[in-house]
Amino acid sequence: MTTEDGSARCRCGHDRTHPLVVPEPRYGLGGWLLLGLGATPRPREIAFRCTRCQQVLAISRDPEDLRRLA
Ligand SMILES: [Zn+2]
Repeated sequence: MTTEDGSARCRCGHDRTHPLVVPEPRYGLGGWLLLGLGATPRPREIAFRCTRCQQVLAISRDPEDLRRLA
Protein backbone atom coordinates (compact mmCIF):
# COMPACT_ATOMS: atom_id res chain seq x y z
CA MET A 1 0.00 0.00 0.00
CA THR A 2 2.90 2.34 0.55
CA THR A 3 4.65 1.64 -2.71
CA GLU A 4 5.76 4.80 -4.43
CA ASP A 5 6.30 3.59 -7.96
CA GLY A 6 2.99 5.00 -9.18
CA SER A 7 1.48 1.64 -9.97
CA ALA A 8 -0.35 1.13 -6.67
CA ARG A 9 -4.09 0.71 -6.97
CA CYS A 10 -6.98 0.82 -4.55
CA ARG A 11 -9.58 -1.90 -4.35
CA CYS A 12 -11.61 -0.33 -7.18
CA GLY A 13 -8.57 -0.50 -9.42
CA HIS A 14 -7.86 3.23 -9.57
CA ASP A 15 -4.27 4.37 -9.63
CA ARG A 16 -3.00 7.77 -8.48
CA THR A 17 -3.66 9.40 -11.85
CA HIS A 18 -7.37 8.54 -11.79
CA PRO A 19 -9.72 11.56 -11.43
CA LEU A 20 -11.41 9.98 -8.40
CA VAL A 21 -8.07 9.75 -6.63
CA VAL A 22 -7.15 13.02 -4.96
CA PRO A 23 -3.85 14.11 -3.44
CA GLU A 24 -4.15 14.89 0.24
CA PRO A 25 -1.31 16.97 1.72
CA ARG A 26 -0.15 15.94 5.16
CA TYR A 27 1.74 18.25 7.43
CA GLY A 28 4.01 17.59 10.34
CA LEU A 29 3.73 19.43 13.60
CA GLY A 30 5.76 22.40 12.33
CA GLY A 31 3.52 22.58 9.28
CA TRP A 32 0.36 22.86 11.36
CA LEU A 33 2.02 25.62 13.33
CA LEU A 34 2.78 27.53 10.14
CA LEU A 35 -0.76 26.95 8.85
CA GLY A 36 -2.06 28.45 12.08
CA LEU A 37 0.05 31.50 11.42
CA GLY A 38 -1.40 31.87 7.94
CA ALA A 39 1.68 30.65 6.13
CA THR A 40 1.64 27.93 3.47
CA PRO A 41 4.14 25.31 4.52
CA ARG A 42 5.42 22.54 2.30
CA PRO A 43 3.58 19.36 3.31
CA ARG A 44 5.60 16.51 4.72
CA GLU A 45 3.99 13.99 2.43
CA ILE A 46 1.14 13.53 -0.04
CA ALA A 47 -1.39 10.76 0.48
CA PHE A 48 -3.30 9.66 -2.61
CA ARG A 49 -6.81 8.82 -1.53
CA CYS A 50 -9.56 7.26 -3.62
CA THR A 51 -12.74 9.26 -3.06
CA ARG A 52 -14.91 6.25 -3.80
CA CYS A 53 -13.52 3.66 -1.39
CA GLN A 54 -11.57 6.10 0.85
CA GLN A 55 -8.51 3.93 0.57
CA VAL A 56 -5.10 5.58 0.62
CA LEU A 57 -3.36 3.79 -2.19
CA ALA A 58 -0.03 5.56 -2.10
CA ILE A 59 1.96 7.96 -0.01
CA SER A 60 4.61 10.07 -1.65
CA ARG A 61 7.42 12.05 -0.06
CA ASP A 62 8.94 12.85 -3.42
CA PRO A 63 9.94 16.55 -3.38
CA GLU A 64 8.69 16.87 -6.95
CA ASP A 65 5.22 15.62 -5.97
CA LEU A 66 5.17 17.84 -2.90
CA ARG A 67 5.94 20.92 -4.96
CA ARG A 68 3.54 20.02 -7.78
CA LEU A 69 0.52 18.88 -5.77
CA ALA A 70 0.61 20.92 -2.57
ZN1 LIG B 1 -11.10 3.08 -4.77
